[in-house]
Formats: sequence, structure tokens, C-alpha cells
Amino acid sequence: MGKLFSIGEVLIDFIPLQKGVALKDVFSFERAPGGAPANVAAAVAKYGQKAAMISKLGNDAFGDFLVEQLVEAGVEVDKVYRTGEANTALAFVSLKENGERDFSFYRNPSADLLLSEEEIEPAWFKAGDILHFCSVDLVESPMKQAHKKAIAAVSEADGLVSFDPNVRLPLWEDPEDCRKAILEFLPTADIVKVSDEELNFITGIKDESDAIQSLFVGNVKAVIYTKGAAGADLFLKDEKFESRGYSVKPVDTTGAGDAFMGGFLYQLLEMKANPANLEEVLRGNQTEILQFANASGALTTTGKGAISALPTKREVEELIGK
Ligand code: ATP
Repeated sequence: MGKLFSIGEVLIDFIPLQKGVALKDVFSFERAPGGAPANVAAAVAKYGQKAAMISKLGNDAFGDFLVEQLVEAGVEVDKVYRTGEANTALAFVSLKENGERDFSFYRNPSADLLLSEEEIEPAWFKAGDILHFCSVDLVESPMKQAHKKAIAAVSEADGLVSFDPNVRLPLWEDPEDCRKAILEFLPTADIVKVSDEELNFITGIKDESDAIQSLFVGNVKAVIYTKGAAGADLFLKDEKFESRGYSVKPVDTTGAGDAFMGGFLYQLLEMKANPANLEEVLRGNQTEILQFANASGALTTTGKGAISALPTKREVEELIGK
């Protein structure tokens, strides 16, 4: 049975108790476990497939809290290292009137960025596994090199690579550095997820279908284009599958994209996808996979935070009407 490995940041999202105010005006926050790769691992584990986190946390109370939360979600934490050299990453978030989020990150550098390539064991990865990563931990750091080693190892083992760029510009000195890092890693992925806002930033191409097509470089076989409440489209090289979202009453959209991706990758593990059969699996089961992923994303918006708002598999199936 394949396993999901998620590499990257595990952090605390401090979410505001006041909505619709700028970050500088928020006076109280609630802690929520997060970090996009961790959210995806938690979703996969919660739905019932094996998931392991590859990261590093500080020897601090926030690190202890995050390990507890990952364990509670069913995520394997034996590849989550601890260090006294840096603190666990923190992110303060505010939700502005227009629905956009403002972030302030505390990581200079945070413990996750210190995970080194020597700490990645190629023997961890087996055929049928999936390695998922995002762009937040692709800043110049030991962690960037750790990503390269893990990606090479899972590909060598005949596993899949999944990339959700998840652009967070405040973390980069220059937006161009973020774009360059995404374009550097793009060809290593079999599956790429982009949101509508990210597509234009990454490609610089106005026409939507030309922009999507430009993402098919290197190993890329599937592109998922998520569109918030409207749902998501799945693209194979010359095919497009559309899927409508589910109508829910959102409370906090944090982690919707990660819950979507967790649902998507959970389905791929269930269907024993690998680099050779990926397109066939997606073509044959696109409705089922996209419905599950859309329902997972939609339900996560109905609660606060990311990991804490993940639905159960039963709730996802009830929304789909199974
Ligand atoms: P994130 O906020 O985690 O960065 P994202 O921008 O990567 O998310 P979105 O396109 O906002 O991704 O959302 C991912 C998926 O979650 C959508 O494709 C949809 O299935 C679901 N979703 C998001 N927002 C809503 C909503 N308001 N109502 C219903 N479903 C939603």
C-alpha cells in the first residue's frame, strides 16, 4: 500500500478572533495547527490512508503542540525532527473585508528551514508512494536541498510527486525569487495544483488555457486548477475535466486548497496510482476523485483553521450523496 509523504512547514496559524480587520488591528488570535503540507498529510490520514510528515520543529512548546496535533490526526511523526537551533514557525493571519488574507510570518529562519538533505533517507520511499510539497519552504535553505533529495528519491522509487505552489509572497524578499523557485521545481512534479490567482503569477500568461498548457513541462502529467466555491478543473495533456463545487456556508477558507488536495491524493492512494498509470487512473475516475476533493475542500471552509476544520470521510461522502 502506498503512503503519502508531505515535506515542508508545520506551523501554528494564529487566526484572528475579529473578522474584517487589518492584521495590525487584530487584538486577539486563536492558535490553529497548520502549514500547507501538514494540512494535506492530516487530511489523507483522517480519510484513512497512511501519511507521514517530513519536517523539523523547535524544541519549544509550539513544537510539542504540533507533534500532538499531527499524532491526533493520525500522521506519522517519526520523520519530524526537533532542534534547539531555531524556533517553530508561526504565522499570524487576518481576513480583510474583501476576503483576502494578510499574513505575517515569524521565521528567520524557523526550524523547518533547517531540515537538511542528510536527514532524508532515500530508503523511506517505495513504489506507489506520493511525495507532496509546496513553495513556502523552497527559499534558499537546507530545506530546499532536502526537497530536492526527497523528490529524486521518490521518483527513483517509482512514486508520484505532487506540487501545490501555494504562493505566499510576504515570505520572499522579491516575488521574482518565488516565481523562479516554483519554475525550478515544476518539472519534477507529476501532479501540479494551482489556484486561479496563482496561475497568472506563475506563468505571466493572460489566456487561461495557454497558461495551463505552459505548466506541462518535464514530468507534469496532470494539472488541477482550483476555483474556490466554483470547484476545480482537472487537465491532462490534451483533456479537460470540469467539476462543480459544493454549496456551503464558509466560516474560514484557510486550508480549503489543502483539504482539496488531501482528498485528491487520498483517492490516488486508494486507486494505487503511480507515474505509469496516473493518466489512466485520472481519466477513468475523474468524477469520483474530483467530487471527493471538492467536498473535502468545501466542508473545511465551514470550520475555523485548517487541520481542526477537516471533515470526516463519512461527512465528505454524505455531502457527495454516497
Ligand atoms: P487556500 O485558501 O487553502 O490557499 P486555494 O486558493 O489553494 O485555497 P481554492 O480554490 O480557494 O484553493 O479552494 C480549493 C477547493 O476548495 C475548491 O476547488 C473547492 O472545491 C473548495 N472550496 C473553496 N472555497 C469554497 C467555498 N467558498 N465554497 C465551497 N467550496 C469551496
